Amino acid sequence: MSVSELAKSIIESPTLRLNEEARLLRERGEPVIHLGIGEPKNKTPITAILSSAAKLTQGDVKYCPSDGLPSLKKAIIRYTEEHYDKAVAPENVIVSSGAKQAIFNILYTIVNPQDEVVVLAPYWVSYPEMIKMVYGVPVIVTPEDGSFHPRMSEIERAVSSSARAIICNSPNNPSGIVYKDEFIAELVAFCERKKIYLIMDDIYHKLVFDGRRSPSCYQFTTKDVEDSRLIVINGIAKLYGMTGFRIGWLVGPRKLVEVINNVQAQTTSCASPVMQSGAEGALLGLQSFVEALRLSIQNNRDIIMRELSSFNGVKTYKPDGTFYCLPDFRAYSSNSVELCRFLLKKALVVTVPGREFGMEGHLRLSYAGSVKDVTEGIARIKWALDPTSPNDIYIGDKRLIRDWL
Ligand code: PMP
Repeated sequence: MSVSELAKSIIESPTLRLNEEARLLRERGEPVIHLGIGEPKNKTPITAILSSAAKLTQGDVKYCPSDGLPSLKKAIIRYTEEHYDKAVAPENVIVSSGAKQAIFNILYTIVNPQDEVVVLAPYWVSYPEMIKMVYGVPVIVTPEDGSFHPRMSEIERAVSSSARAIICNSPNNPSGIVYKDEFIAELVAFCERKKIYLIMDDIYHKLVFDGRRSPSCYQFTTKDVEDSRLIVINGIAKLYGMTGFRIGWLVGPRKLVEVINNVQAQTTSCASPVMQSGAEGALLGLQSFVEALRLSIQNNRDIIMRELSSFNGVKTYKPDGTFYCLPDFRAYSSNSVELCRFLLKKALVVTVPGREFGMEGHLRLSYAGSVKDVTEGIARIKWALDPTSPNDIYIGDKRLIRDWL
């Protein structure tokens, strides 16, 4: 089989691969617990279902403008006003098939071969691969102090004259950290000074805990949207747990959006109008739903933190947002890929190796599932790893004895 060198160099999405492994095990009747999953368990909001259904029953499912249904864009503009305190025009917005496609389209539009894009570790697995897919070079900035919060001085050192953009994801997948306001302010000022783009991946921005708020990057610039270097990514996947609808969007300067729209028009034509109508239904529907989701996830965060604190030697950082945490398991293994395999085999728990996110020795655990999944999943991990825990456990209806410690 002949494939390009570039395609060959792109790694498989580890999270999607793990989903598939878990699905196959479950199909075989194995009682797998999935702590790798990147989506809440809620049902789709009814307003989204009704809105998509109306589109279907009208039998009016045709191409739509490639930058999105005007009515959805209107809802996005309202959302941006409400949550970012920023008035933008339809020409600043483009709807894509998921935030993922929006990010890819931006990179395709701004990166020349060998241009650099700075990525802050820990980072979402897809950034470096997408940068490579547009013949760019990912430059990873890893906090030297071992924390999950990079310093401005580290970023400044990493930005060369070939840099085109910095990608910033806060609340952060995988660590759950929310970057400090001052840090975002410094990033905005730095990118403006350097005339490079700041891509703010804000997909989790409403999933924050303990009364905190994710800052709006626009509050840190005096420039107009058109003159700023800011591109903001958002979507319905995490906000409403509507991952399968595949709708995301970006807000940016209109001259840039115009070119991104050409890219999208030539590659996808448009995101499905049925799903765009669903997104519109969710955005215009009752928002108490988002608060209920946020509260249940915050409760799960507290539970997973409590359970993890009972381990000997596992270091945790209490997440400020998202539905992930990234505990340090180096007390048990410094090879996170091997550790994940071990946990899946022995304890039937899916976790994601920190190596994929630029943090070897850590595991990304999701607490987006049920309380039972979280407590039982951590109990199984504890049984498999911690010699101070009882050496027998029930997994499904089988009593298992630990004989490897
Ligand atoms: N950005 C981050 C940080 C994510 O975690 C994800 C999904 N896991 C995405 C973007 C992609 O979102 P979507 O499903 O809308 O493509």
